[in-house]
Amino acid sequence: NADAAMYAAKSAGRNNYKFYTADLNVRASEVLAIESQFRGALERNEFVLHYQPQVDMTDGRLLGAEALIRWNHPEQGLIGPLRFIPVAEERGFIVAIGNWVIREACRQLAEWKAAGCILPKLALNLSALQFRDPELLSVIEGQLVAYDLDGACLEIELTESVLMDDVEGTLQAVEALRALGVSLAIDDFGTGYSSLSYLKRFKADTLKIDRSFVRDIPQDLDDSAITRAIIAMAKTLNMQVLAEGVETAQQWRFLADEGCDQVQGYLVSPPLPAERFEAVLRDGAMLPSEMALP
Ligand code: C2E
Ligand code: MG
Ligand code: MG
Ligand code: MG
Repeated sequence: NADAAMYAAKSAGRNNYKFYTADLNVRASEVLAIESQFRGALERNEFVLHYQPQVDMTDGRLLGAEALIRWNHPEQGLIGPLRFIPVAEERGFIVAIGNWVIREACRQLAEWKAAGCILPKLALNLSALQFRDPELLSVIEGQLVAYDLDGACLEIELTESVLMDDVEGTLQAVEALRALGVSLAIDDFGTGYSSLSYLKRFKADTLKIDRSFVRDIPQDLDDSAITRAIIAMAKTLNMQVLAEGVETAQQWRFLADEGCDQVQGYLVSPPLPAERFEAVLRDGAMLPSEMALP
């Protein structure tokens, strides 16, 4: 009967509503929990950097690494950046975190250098907000001086949206970084909007092909065509091209055939804690075992 049906629909609707708000509350309380713990986490040194190797496709030589932040949470264990970086950006903590990343990266580079293991280049991810921070340059320069490091040992990874957000401002900041010897990589390339003419003006050193294009090569013909086109374009613009998220030997082979310069991904190595990365650094080469060289 109609009344019963109406009642059922209403209560179902109410339940949906309840689930919906419960879900939002969970998320909101997680954001609050993360927010309230940030400052303490920085003071207690709960953040850590992991290091993912970047290798030359022709000989497996270790060319550099990307520093990826994790939060070693006292109760929840290791928390990945996707769970807290957006909150940090929203709540005004990202500059403090970014400054910590710069300092920790330089400290670690100096420690490895003192131990006789030279990492040619360490790439850092900087949020757009950090890139707008007028102190950024002096923070980087200050840490390079404090740890007696050459600017060439750092690379800054920016996404297309950062480049396009404020073209002139970003160009100025990039020029100033370059004057310190720091190089520039464009991260997640192909997922944002960027004008090719600006890409040329930025003179980025490295173009990182986003993992979403790499995932289904060589089976997916569209992704294969896009990847091939990005490699060709990078070469034309005299940039190094690096493929992110390489997990399989087939992906490696396709990329090698297309002339991709560098690779970063689980096939070579996942991001590693400092002690384990140091062992890689001592070896110097990281060719995945199944990748026989020509
Ligand atoms: P990203 O800069 O594009 O970093 C690459 C991400 O892909 C990392 O995730 C890495 O662990 C993951 N990855 C690498 N190889 C593979 C692979 O073969 N397969 C798969 N499935 N994944 C792979 P992670 O560490 O979770 O970082 C996620 C994002 O968080 C980063 O994306 C970056 O945008 C951001 N992030 C990480 N560290 C920092 C930081 O220190 N500061 C800021 N502002 N953002 C950071
Ligand atoms: Mg990155
Ligand atoms: Mg990326
Ligand atoms: Mg990404």
